[in-house]
Amino acid sequence: MSDRKRKPATHVVEAGRKPEWTGIPGQPGGVVNPPVWRASTHLYDDAEDLAGGRPNADGHFYYGRRGGPTQWALAEALTELEPGADGTELFPSGVAAIACTLLAVLRPGDELLVTDNAYEPTRSIALAMLKQFDITARPFDPLDLDGLAAMIGEKTKAVLVENPGSLTMEISDVPAIAEIARERGVLSIIDNTWATPLGFPALERGCDISVMSLTKHVGGHSDVMMGSASAAKPVINRIRRQAQFMGQVVSPDDAALALRGLRTMALRLERSARSALEIAEWLATRDEVAAVLCPMLPGTRDHELWQRDFTGGCGLFSFILAKGYDADARARLLDTLELFGIGFSWGGYESLAIPFDPAPVHTLRPWPPGIDSGSGLGVRLSIGLEDVTDLKEDLAKGLDAMGAV
Ligand SMILES: *Cc1c(COP(=O)(O)O)cnc(C)c1O
Repeated sequence: MSDRKRKPATHVVEAGRKPEWTGIPGQPGGVVNPPVWRASTHLYDDAEDLAGGRPNADGHFYYGRRGGPTQWALAEALTELEPGADGTELFPSGVAAIACTLLAVLRPGDELLVTDNAYEPTRSIALAMLKQFDITARPFDPLDLDGLAAMIGEKTKAVLVENPGSLTMEISDVPAIAEIARERGVLSIIDNTWATPLGFPALERGCDISVMSLTKHVGGHSDVMMGSASAAKPVINRIRRQAQFMGQVVSPDDAALALRGLRTMALRLERSARSALEIAEWLATRDEVAAVLCPMLPGTRDHELWQRDFTGGCGLFSFILAKGYDADARARLLDTLELFGIGFSWGGYESLAIPFDPAPVHTLRPWPPGIDSGSGLGVRLSIGLEDVTDLKEDLAKGLDAMGAV
């Protein structure tokens, strides 16, 4: 365990670097990073050692599906980064982390309440996949806390939030949501991919389980897919058991890539958040833009809550095109961009842009609420590590290519 008084940027460098994972027993010294331990079989010393067994002893060799030092180092690092967590389970994707976490905490007959602004695949897991297990799910409006409290019934066992919401980026009062849940014995789960524990220490803010797609900020280089779930005991033990039932395992090579990404995460988040804010401020002055959906932007509806609850941001935000522009104009904008790739995912070192239409994703009210959504045509940007002046110039060319309305 590293010293909790140290600052997050120090933690991302130090976390998980145990000498027993980076050195050879009996030899002085060691290396900086845990080696990539490729292994299915773990060898026992002798028959007695095997008979003793150690299937669930943390950090002990047993069998490849329980991971090895490379995966343990990553899981341990993520646990150290999340104050309040006793452990972290790794999954081959963020979606796998969400699906398996829900199956770990819900039983047939239970109900899940899922935020209406959830990541679309999360919504599908909740509303379609869980049905196969006789688990019901209902979306709730994350800005209506009284409404949420009224929805919680005897069968409700978990609430799933995201902060900010996917694509539309509204901030909800997650500490209050977590408290409402806790008072009624309901578990709160947050998809904390946007902020990471560096920007939103989710368990400290009251959530029971923090799930992340490590594919985004932790990997950071668009070359690995992975997910995680962190929690205190006994909840983390339930998640671990479910993950083991379902054979969830990540490769040591991928774990090493994620660890490598993690070491620069604080630096990358700081830089991309700064560039994103500058670009968001500039986009807000443009006639082609009806609204910028970015909680880091002062003067927005969400900024106050973001300032209260978050300790950092990132490079991901959205904007809505002004009235009069159509999908063809938006396509011209995207096709003109040279520095922004067009593609899913985000949180890499390179900038990305993707079109989205908020209307069909949310069902409870027009999103983003309280904002004249202009044309209703959205663009989401993931700001990378390029020079911010170059990015603005690229976007300016794209906006010009849409023409006047
Ligand atoms: C990408 C994403 C996920 C899913 O992660 P994968 O690693 O792609 O499976 C989950 N939640 C959010 C908010 C995401 O952006």
